[in-house]
Amino acid sequence: MENASESTIKGTGVVAGVAYAEAVWVRPRPALPTEGSIDPEQASDSEYDRFLAAVDTVAGRLEQRAAAAEGQAAEVLTATAGMVKDRGWHKAVRKNIRTGRNAEFATVGATDKFVTMFEAAGGVMAERTTDLKDVRDRVIAELRGEDEPGLPLVDGEAVLFADDLAPADTATLDTKHIKALVTELGGPTSHTAIIARQLDIPCIVAVGAALSDIESGTLVFVDGAVGAVTLGADEEASTKAVAEYRERAARVAQWRGPAETKDGHRVQLLANVADGNAARIASDSQAEGIGLYRTELSFLSASEEPSVDEQAKIYGKVFKAFPESKVVVRTLDAGSDKPISYATLSSEENPALGVRGLRIARDNEALLTRQLDAIAQAAEARDDKASTWVMAPMVATSTEAQWFAGLCRERGLTAGAMIEVPAAALMADKIMPHLDFVSIGTNDLTQYTMAADRLSPQLAYLTDPWQPAVLRLIQHTCIVGQANNVAVGVCGEAAADPMLACVLTGLGVNSLSAASTAVAGVGAQLAEVTLEQCQQLSEVALDAESPDAARTAVVERMESFA
Ligand code: PEP
Ligand code: MG
Repeated sequence: MENASESTIKGTGVVAGVAYAEAVWVRPRPALPTEGSIDPEQASDSEYDRFLAAVDTVAGRLEQRAAAAEGQAAEVLTATAGMVKDRGWHKAVRKNIRTGRNAEFATVGATDKFVTMFEAAGGVMAERTTDLKDVRDRVIAELRGEDEPGLPLVDGEAVLFADDLAPADTATLDTKHIKALVTELGGPTSHTAIIARQLDIPCIVAVGAALSDIESGTLVFVDGAVGAVTLGADEEASTKAVAEYRERAARVAQWRGPAETKDGHRVQLLANVADGNAARIASDSQAEGIGLYRTELSFLSASEEPSVDEQAKIYGKVFKAFPESKVVVRTLDAGSDKPISYATLSSEENPALGVRGLRIARDNEALLTRQLDAIAQAAEARDDKASTWVMAPMVATSTEAQWFAGLCRERGLTAGAMIEVPAAALMADKIMPHLDFVSIGTNDLTQYTMAADRLSPQLAYLTDPWQPAVLRLIQHTCIVGQANNVAVGVCGEAAADPMLACVLTGLGVNSLSAASTAVAGVGAQLAEVTLEQCQQLSEVALDAESPDAARTAVVERMESFA
């Protein structure tokens, strides 16, 4: 698809898939004025008219978008238009203009007043302050003659470009029109990446400043599998690639588990969940069970440790969604970016390298044993066919693995450990004999292998699960797993990437656990390759010099199978 006028910029691909459409930028929020005056004797009526004209334009645009949208998106847009037309807000702006403020500054003051009121009321009212600020920003931009901030109006198809996306920007994102997301900042675990995975649209993050040189209206070809944005791409080849991708997406929608390769090699596909609600949603997907239940996420705002009975109730809700299946419960992974007030130390110089995960229980074993008691209690009520596996996060040594496994077995629980510290992968032969299974956490394994903070957008090029160094640690873990007859799963973001899932299968991973929305894509991809082809893919990935080279080599080898 090389073309003389073609140029490509690279970022980190987080959701595979291609799109060919015009770029549209999400405009940044306007800087708010801190002053601005008029002579109230002379100009207050005309200034207020200027405000009302801006209000009419903004409300009209939102209503136009509402008419073109459906369902919840239409409701959100209609409600936002209603807020723009709110008479109480207009009155407050008018009052401010009469004291000598210009329309922009008067709008800021009037909005602040309502925001304070809503925040004091709390609950649902407080949640509306984001919408109110959004309305303020749209009106201020209109008053200044600037582009409307937030999501632009899109009639046909478009690729959305942004510095980064906020949750509010994505609430009404309509995949009928938006065919891919590309951001300057962000990383594989940023909000943009999570939303893109949920919507299942191609996504590239961390492209860097070069992205801002591409203007709205430029035709771009986006390839999420390799993280490339191409300008001047060949039209015929791009359109063909998009048609093939859509055909594939349709096949994914049709895919039904359980997963196996073309030649019948079984791979268990499981879901990652945070609570009972996510588990219920996962039970509607093709996931066979739960491969990672992140228990700590239920306790992030708890000030006191819930009792054993209370915890058992919470865990029971997750078990209920998969009454007869395998559920892997991870014990508290508190600390680092997930502080829990009753469990973690309040200040550490380097929390990601500090007392997190299983390490917390060294000085507080009762915290762990109460959680294991609660898991055992909830598991007791499960069907006989169901299996409940328990694993510890951040295991680094065989002593830790042995100690944890002992506590689990005293309670009749199947014991495992996450392999997310490079030492655990390297010492797998000493760790595994104590365990029934291991699950590789590629998010942290990548962070610690590459010595790169997984939350840093600047280091997204390092925190890429395609890093051959990480794949080599996974390969070693799988070899030791086979020798010890210990099941090896992967439950980090790597398992959500269909291409990488084939590589992991080739390395010998037995189960893959990912966001439930990713399961069908992974299953459909595995169905198209044989185990021997997966092994070929893993060889080329292991041999690559960089994550980009690994991805490209795997995509090329995959194409050669067709
Ligand atoms: C991981 O580190 O890959 C993992 C699955 O755990 P978490 O993302 O919760 O740290
Ligand atoms: Mg982890």
